[in-house]
Amino acid sequence: MADLVLFNGKIFTVEAGLPWAQAVAIRDSKFVAVGMDAEIKKLAGKNTEMVDLKGKLALPGFNDAHLHFTNGGLYLLGIDLRPARDEKEFVSIIKEYIRKLPQGEWVTGGNWDHENWPSKKHPNKELIDAISADNPVLVSRLDGHMALANSLVLKLAGITRDTPNPQGGEIVKDKKTGEPTGILRDTAMTLVDRVVPPLSRDKRERAIRAAMRHAQELGVTSVQDNSSAEDLAIYQELLRKGELGVRVNAWRGADSWEDFQRIGITAACGDPFLRLGTAKLFVDGSMGAGTALFFEPYADDPSTSGLPIHTQEQLNLLVKNVDRAGLQIAAHAIGDKANAWILDAFAKARAANGRRDARHRIEHSQVVRPDDVQCFAELGVIASVQPCHCIDDMRWAEKRIGKRVNDAYRWRSFLEAGVHVAFGTDWDVEPLDPRLGLYAAVSRELPGGGPAGGWHPGEKITMAQAIELYTMGSAYAEFQENVKGSVKPGKFADLVVMENNIFEIFPKKILTTSVAMTILAGKIVFKK
Ligand SMILES: [Zn+2]
Repeated sequence: MADLVLFNGKIFTVEAGLPWAQAVAIRDSKFVAVGMDAEIKKLAGKNTEMVDLKGKLALPGFNDAHLHFTNGGLYLLGIDLRPARDEKEFVSIIKEYIRKLPQGEWVTGGNWDHENWPSKKHPNKELIDAISADNPVLVSRLDGHMALANSLVLKLAGITRDTPNPQGGEIVKDKKTGEPTGILRDTAMTLVDRVVPPLSRDKRERAIRAAMRHAQELGVTSVQDNSSAEDLAIYQELLRKGELGVRVNAWRGADSWEDFQRIGITAACGDPFLRLGTAKLFVDGSMGAGTALFFEPYADDPSTSGLPIHTQEQLNLLVKNVDRAGLQIAAHAIGDKANAWILDAFAKARAANGRRDARHRIEHSQVVRPDDVQCFAELGVIASVQPCHCIDDMRWAEKRIGKRVNDAYRWRSFLEAGVHVAFGTDWDVEPLDPRLGLYAAVSRELPGGGPAGGWHPGEKITMAQAIELYTMGSAYAEFQENVKGSVKPGKFADLVVMENNIFEIFPKKILTTSVAMTILAGKIVFKK
């Protein structure tokens, strides 16, 4: 008999043989049957929990193939000053936040915007000093180019009326008194960095717990994480206590490949809830910072074509060593030259070490020449992409790289060439919310809409494809396609129920629907 039966639903299984079903039966942590209401209900006994989906859409749990989980959690723990409509609300939000904090703990985050206030004036330290005598406060403006520090922070950082402005920044000072107002612009914010304490074990755990809750509310049941050693220790402890609320594939830097080798850890080693064996490395930087590596100079800055992190020889050697150690490589590459280099390094490693099911992956795979798309397929390299980056970057990408945007964010080209694609978000760089990625993948429009028909619409994909990449595609990218990623008997019962049918609602409405229920390993972990 089943523990849990969900019936009267529209279940998109991501299985070609039976793409749609009405009902599923779950026992222990796995799906035991998928099909029509009448046949599945036969598996219900008197102890079976019955859930009427009332015609709602259910999907396999989302698997975010690239994120920074602790950073995301820290963002969630931080103070949110966006709702402040004037100075008074700004102060009262900070006051309320501090009330729940231990004495001495820092207040960071913020996202205030004085442009929304009637005065349109920058806040100053005098506004908050009286309510924050025992807690250092450093809250940033929405754009991250400005922060307000309280007097305690200025004191800890040794910033006084006599401190000169650093190159590329400003310590804003009162015109009459000459005293710092608390506003630090750009590089002046780094004067404070050295006094911000390192992250405590306790705060790291709180961040991870907040991130897990957020993931469950969004239907994200698996994450592939750029983890630190400290994160890994916490994941292990949560796993031991049965409190790990999301499946984690924890990556470590490729420079630790010799440690992995010595201990005998290879790709996809571990438990259904916690795995190791993916080694992260960087080939280049980012397009926004002008450090992504291209064959030709930037359109808006002909003096540079980006910066490689390693020389091509160093990269080839590192990739060869990590591949020989049996690890999976997750290589960050944005520019067309960075993608070409890493593909070449993968080909060389295969020639030297022999062909195996390595599933090396290129994180971002943002600008890829047409011939190189074929190389992904030939080498079995996975394109690990973040559709939300596209609808953010498309505002300025053409200005930066000119007609090379034709080779950018090419999801449909990858699929047509037979390349394995995985979907993620790069949270906390972009929101963790899968709705945004699905919307981006099917529309290639800004969150508010436009350009009409989508930006380079030939690379749009269908909703069914987008969901498949966010579930099975990401599961394949972590060697887990046989145990999760679709609704199939024998697979782990990770499922998300959506309030609205995202196959039917106009793309823009995808962003305003919500998750009704999340099931992880057969247990309801979130319910609206
Ligand atoms: Zn990242």
